[in-house]
Parts: sequence; structure tokens; C-alpha cells
Amino acid sequence: MKEKQTHSITLESTCKITDEICLPDTKLPRVVIVGGGFAGLALVEKLKHKEVQVVLLDKNNFHQFQPLLYQVATSALEPDSIVFPFRKQINGYKNVFFRLAEVEEIQPDSNTILTNKGSVSYDYLVLATGTTTNFFGMDSVAENSLGMKDIRDSLNIRHMMLQNLEQAAITCDDKERDALTNFVIVGGGPAGVEMAGALAEFCKYILPKDYPEYPSSIMNIYLIEAIDELLSTMSDKASSKTLKYLEDLNVKVLLNEAVSNYDGKEVTTISGKTILAKNLIWTAGVKGQFPNGIDEKHIVRGNRIKTDANLKVEGYENIFAIGDIAALISEERPKGHPQVAQAAIQQGKYLGNSILNLINNKPTQPFEYKDKGALATVGKRKAVADLGKFKFAGYFAWLLWSVVHLMAISGFRNRLMVGFNWAVSYFTYEKSNRLIIRNFKPKSLINNTEE
Ligand SMILES: Cc1cc2nc3c(=O)[nH]c(=O)nc-3n(C[C@H](O)[C@H](O)[C@H](O)COP(=O)(O)OP(=O)(O)OC[C@H]3O[C@@H](n4cnc5c(N)ncnc54)[C@H](O)[C@@H]3O)c2cc1C
Repeated sequence: MKEKQTHSITLESTCKITDEICLPDTKLPRVVIVGGGFAGLALVEKLKHKEVQVVLLDKNNFHQFQPLLYQVATSALEPDSIVFPFRKQINGYKNVFFRLAEVEEIQPDSNTILTNKGSVSYDYLVLATGTTTNFFGMDSVAENSLGMKDIRDSLNIRHMMLQNLEQAAITCDDKERDALTNFVIVGGGPAGVEMAGALAEFCKYILPKDYPEYPSSIMNIYLIEAIDELLSTMSDKASSKTLKYLEDLNVKVLLNEAVSNYDGKEVTTISGKTILAKNLIWTAGVKGQFPNGIDEKHIVRGNRIKTDANLKVEGYENIFAIGDIAALISEERPKGHPQVAQAAIQQGKYLGNSILNLINNKPTQPFEYKDKGALATVGKRKAVADLGKFKFAGYFAWLLWSVVHLMAISGFRNRLMVGFNWAVSYFTYEKSNRLIIRNFKPKSLINNTEE
């Protein structure tokens, strides 16, 4: 197999029948990036057209815009508006190669990684694998609830919700109907707050139109948070405004409360409360996910990988970690950087420059995070914003939230689709078609029954 030569890469493939993933031969240093999330893609953008061979590996063939997952879950957006294929992203980047593979193990002694499709050798390895849902060891919750970490989770939530609302019209059992139409969201961070706001608006504007047989009071939305405030990483003003906005939308916010058990039909809390609900959405925690092979002594709280000030994994010369997975612990930041898109993007950009400096024997500066502030929206037309000294809430904060999110979405077509959907929904409160196109079953039922 021959390909055109570009830059100084010899693009003659080493495609032998081995267990190696087929990649073009090169004399340039090979940078292998595991994970094309915000961090991995920012790094790709820095290294494109440079004198390195970049190999991007991801278990999906698309990048996901996680901040808008809740809008897919509540049928406000279709999934292809917030996911973007890597091959489109790297179109025209002659030194960047995407391979669809899940990385399973790192073998630092031989500078090799093992994937479910074969092995890849590296000169520099960058782990940008992000996080997965953390159920904190509660098996009953993990089995019966739904997390919201990727696009499949969002579609599961959407199907669970629409199926349960349909089933509620079928059943004559009042208790069963309550369970089918009650929604419990666990976790009062941005994901939980935004999901609760969107569901509350669904209940207010869509339910009466689509399900005229129900009173709007039929759908109860609970938001459970273990500490005494919502959005605890934002200002007091943002927390209290968010609480007010949600309560105005009839969301029942339970603070200082935590879930202790969930059997798929009844939520039990630590204080002994019970809530009948067949819909439980878990946004209360995440933990790092990464392949085997990193020495356990470098793994810290939240299953994150400890790095030095240059984002190099401690104990290794050519392995780096960026984004949610990285814990750069300092006196100033004893818990590492916040697990948000801005930190991931800044780390990806920084590491791109840093790796080029390393290759060219130039000194590298430590990573410095510039906090650009935080935004969260509560339904349509209301949001809270903390931008340095400026803390505000309401319509203007929502406009800012909309513009920031729209500009951050990958791909012009996706931006157009999201913008169009938002404009339609702004004036009509209408969302996209609410179709049940597959039969969703919770994990516990899939394990016990045949599809
Ligand atoms: C519901 C939700 C809402 C959020 N809202 C906001 C918000 O409003 N603002 C904000 O700043 N942040 C928000 N965040 C957080 C933000 O999305 C994360 O901080 C950011 O995605 C981290 O980027 P990352 O590149 O480290 O990881 P990710 O974006 O999670 O990307 C990791 C990538 O690695 C791939 N991967 C993982 N393991 C492997 C493997 N073994 N082999 C191959 N590929 C692998 C995955 O497929 C994925 O593509 C939200 C997160 C969620 C879940």
C-alpha cells in the first residue's frame, strides 16, 4: 500500500500481517494520543502540519460535546448535532492518522500500547481518556439507574423517558403510573441542574401537548444533592439563584440528602425517605478511566493520574496525561485542576507546544491554567455566570451561555443544526420529534431477560 509523501513522513505503510495496527512508516517522532475528547483534539490541532506523526486512537469514531448531552436526553437536539466524526475533523491533516481502537494496556518498557485491534509503538504517549460515571460502589444504583457520560447514555435516557410516559397512559395502577412519571436526578452539579431544568420545561410545555390525558402535576422532578447547595464549585449567588430558578419550575430540590439504594422502582435516601420512580438519572460523580499499565503509586483520588508541572506522568519519561484524567497537584490546587472542558483544552494546547519543544531540545515552561469562569443554564432563558469578579444571573447570562456553547461545538454543520434548533425552540418551545425507535431496557432487565 503506497500513499503520497508529505512533510518528511515516508508514507510507505508497514502493513505486514502482524498484530500491529497498520500505520505509515515514518522517520519522524510518533505521538500517540489516546482519546479524542476536548483535551486530545486540542492537542491534535496543535500538532497538525508539524514535523511529528500523530496517531489518534479512540474507542468511538466521533468526538462528543458532553455539555449538551442533556439536550439529546430531553429530545431538544438530535444526537448527530453534538457528535463529530474524527475523520472529518482531521480531514487535510496529512501527518495525523485516526484509528478506531480501544486501548487496553500500556507497556512502558517497550514503548508500546496494546489495543483491542492490535499494538502501536510510540515515542510519546498522551493519555486523554477522560472519566466514566462513578456510582461509588452502589451496585443497586449502577444496575438500575442511567448515567449521562456519553451519547448512548443520552439516547437511553430519552428512550426510558418516552417509553415510561407511554406506559403511564396504558397502566390502570395509580402507584405504577406515579413511578413511571416521577423523575429523580442525583447530583446538583452543572449536569444535574441542567438536566432538571430541561425536564421541568418538558413537563411544562411538551407534556400538556403530547399527553393531553395527563394533568401536568403528574410528572414530578426531584433533584437530590448530598451537600447543602447546588453548583458548589460556583459562587453563592449562582447556587442560590439556581435553587430559586429550579423551584420556580416546580423541581423538588432535596439538599443534604443522598441516595442509599435504588431497586428500579423506589429510591431510598440516607435519611430514610422513599420516592417511587422508574426514572433515575445519576450525575453525582465521575472517576478517571485509563488503560492498565500505569504504576498504581501514580494514581490518586478520583482515579486520576498524577502528573508533574509539565503534565508528564510521574515516573515516566515519555508518557503524559491531559484533561479530566490528569491530576496536576500543587499547593494552590491540592485537588488538581477542575474537570471541565476549558482545563482539558488548555492542557491539550499546552502539551502540543511542550512536545514540540522537547523534540527540538528547547526548554518547556510549567502548565498554567487560566480560569475563564463558569456558566450553567436552568431551562430556557435563565442561566448563572461567574466570570472573575462579575457574577450575574438571568437572561443575559443565558444569552452568553448559548453563544459560548454554540461556538465551542465542533463542525460548522453541527453548529448550524444546534443554532437552528435553539432558534425554533426559543419561539415555539417545540423540541425535535420524540420517537421511540428502539426498545430500551435498564441494565438489570437486560441481564435477566432476553431482548
Ligand atoms: C453531562 C456532562 C455535562 C458537562 N458540562 C460541562 C460544561 O457545561 N462545561 C464544562 O466545561 N465541562 C462540562 N463537562 C465536563 C467536560 O465535558 C469534561 O471536562 C471534558 O469532556 C474532559 O475532556 P477530556 O478530553 O479529558 O475527556 P473526554 O471529553 O471525556 O474524552 C475522552 C475520550 O477518550 C476516549 N477513550 C476513553 N477511554 C479510551 C480507551 N481506553 N481507548 C480509546 N479511547 C478511549 C473516549 O471515547 C473519549 O472520546 C460536562 C460533562 C458531562 C458528562
